[in-house]
Amino acid sequence: MEFNHEYFMLEALRLAELAYNQKEVPVGAVIVRDGEIVGCGYNTRKQNQNAVLHAETVAIYNACKNLGSWRLWNCDMYVTLEPCPMCTGAIINSRICNVYYGAKNIRAGACGSVINLFDYPFNHKAGIFGGILEEQCAELMTRFFENVRTERKLLKEQQKTLQSQIQTEQP
Ligand SMILES: [Zn+2]
Repeated sequence: MEFNHEYFMLEALRLAELAYNQKEVPVGAVIVRDGEIVGCGYNTRKQNQNAVLHAETVAIYNACKNLGSWRLWNCDMYVTLEPCPMCTGAIINSRICNVYYGAKNIRAGACGSVINLFDYPFNHKAGIFGGILEEQCAELMTRFFENVRTERKLLKEQQKTLQSQIQTEQP
């Protein structure tokens, strides 16, 4: 059983790496039914400039399309980061059975970190299991945000240099 969780989380991580390579916040998700991947997705919010295109919503969209149903019966989701309120809402609305996530999302997680939406009496409850390949999932996020900070710093330094050049060139 544990092998399966890690196997599917590695698939989600592979998708998160694709997001990472496209300079998107690296989150990946797969939806599994009877041991088979029926939908997958990664965050494409930035390249599409669309706030709803998180890994989970893209994966749900694909799974619904593949299965020809809005109701994802007997489907489980593997996602590298704890889902946000929007995605937790989409998980409730698509009736996903169990959610397995990797890293905690302390700033926006709606499965226990900021809030646990499953503590409330909604019409559907999913099983939530965190910490699957947590270190690898968290490491990818850390690496991404470190790069963002480094790039910002470099940009600032370039601007500074440029400004001082302009100033020295002035008569
Ligand atoms: Zn989300």
